[in-house]
Amino acid sequence: MAPRTKTAKKTARPKTAKQPKKSDLGRGTDPARVRKILAKLDETYPDATCALHHQNAFQLLIATILSAQCTDERVNMVTPALFKKYPNPKAFAYADPSELEKEIRPTGFFRNKTKSIMGASKRIVEEFQGEVPRTMDQLLTLPGVARKTANVVLGVAFGIAVGVVVDTHVTRLSHRLDLSGHSDPGKIEIDLMAVIPQEKWISFSHQLIWHGRRICQARKPRCLECTLEPLCYSKDKTI
Ligand code: SF4
Repeated sequence: MAPRTKTAKKTARPKTAKQPKKSDLGRGTDPARVRKILAKLDETYPDATCALHHQNAFQLLIATILSAQCTDERVNMVTPALFKKYPNPKAFAYADPSELEKEIRPTGFFRNKTKSIMGASKRIVEEFQGEVPRTMDQLLTLPGVARKTANVVLGVAFGIAVGVVVDTHVTRLSHRLDLSGHSDPGKIEIDLMAVIPQEKWISFSHQLIWHGRRICQARKPRCLECTLEPLCYSKDKTI
């Protein structure tokens, strides 16, 4: 696990965290049931953390941009040489785009990712004195950065919980565990923020992603091995 660059926990809910209507939430959001799910996740995945290798917030930002539509394993194969060649935001900001495209090609969507990486790096250099910003609003001004990436950076690098990371695993698990009835990631995030205590937002995302990768896989969930099985009434269950 890479070290956190600084811990500065914040407790204020973001402006965007509107309370969802009760009818929008999944049926399984009874507080006692949610507490049991969280306890089981803590018991099963006490060390769940981000799988993207990084040494600081900026490297995590770049790795997270690269991880769109790509596995963390593949990103981790590309980033060691990349971070050696481009050791800071300035180096990425003024890179040769055609060279960078070649270097990140294995992660897919390399043209768009090059634009995002160079655009975000340039803005960090020119507007944020070379430092990754620490607020959601500022992070969202960086090219290629949406709430998911911003939540990863804030949560993992800075220990700041302003939202829940909603990726493909969190989306699937939120449905199977009936914590949200929505398909839009932004709405799922709002639902999860309403039912999960804020001090759990960071660990909950990691635990759900680990559970989705290891056990509750998309095509054939391994329900026999699942510690959440007694609490799950998904129609996808294989037992
Ligand atoms: S019981 Fe099956 S469907 Fe439910 S969370 Fe576990 S693995 Fe997923």
